[in-house]
Amino acid sequence: MKFTGENILAFTEQFPDDKLCLAYLSELKWVEGFICTNCGHTKFTVRKANLARDCNRCHHIESPTAGTIFHKLRFGLRKAFGIIFEMSATTKGFSSSQVAKRYGISRTTAWAFMHRVRTAMQSSKRFPIVGDVQVDEFVFGGKESLKQGRSKDVKKKKIIGAVELSEKGKVKRVYFNKIADYSSKSLSCIFDNHISKDAHVLTDKWTGYAPLAKRFNIEQKYSDKGSSMKQIHTVIHQLKSWLRSTYSWVHQDHMDKYLNEFSFRINRSIFKQTIFHSLVSRMMICKPLTYQMIKISS
Ligand SMILES: [Zn+2]
Repeated sequence: MKFTGENILAFTEQFPDDKLCLAYLSELKWVEGFICTNCGHTKFTVRKANLARDCNRCHHIESPTAGTIFHKLRFGLRKAFGIIFEMSATTKGFSSSQVAKRYGISRTTAWAFMHRVRTAMQSSKRFPIVGDVQVDEFVFGGKESLKQGRSKDVKKKKIIGAVELSEKGKVKRVYFNKIADYSSKSLSCIFDNHISKDAHVLTDKWTGYAPLAKRFNIEQKYSDKGSSMKQIHTVIHQLKSWLRSTYSWVHQDHMDKYLNEFSFRINRSIFKQTIFHSLVSRMMICKPLTYQMIKISS
């Protein structure tokens, strides 16, 4: 039942229609068993038409997608599953206009759904990175300001990143956060959200990091044109070219979601077999998001 692998043919065979996708969500939703949200009863009858569960005591009816991020989806689940599969499997990423064309939905609908997927890609922050860690900050973009034609918006987006290294010095996990400026307070978000107090953190000589050394194990080195922190600079380069090639227009308010998407795939690159299943599972425990909420959230 649980979908594994990266094969698109196997994927389309397992999910040929909306009903089988719904059955998949239904199994995920009630994997621990059914408890009526209205009265707490555990016996139910399944309604064949939409797989909703009808409580045997109070007859409260709950659909598999109720209370999840799939609630009130404006298109079929087969399309939704296809988009999730591609977003989880491809390292290239793709824009909402490409998705709109490929799946026959409007660009706005595609855009909103992809943001729902990205919301589910957000880190739980439960597993801070440990061992050897590199932290650096950088800027990205400026193109959106030209499009909007507002000179006050001609600002590059500031981002801070952290990379966890394996014993062999390879990139294991990455996290990024949008920041307002380079003050210690702003820089601290990546430390507080994602870095263990025990980690050995390497940064450049920027003074903003110094106050953080009271709480974290930080070593500051001259960046020497980036040669002292090669791994993080490679990842930053990958991130920038991914953002540039896929999303020519990334609004400041949504930057964190794109950063989630990029990090999610890198951090699960060794679990590619189950990446689709884990992403759908996450979406089933994400609360519904309206279009308005997506539009204004940052
Ligand atoms: Zn009930």
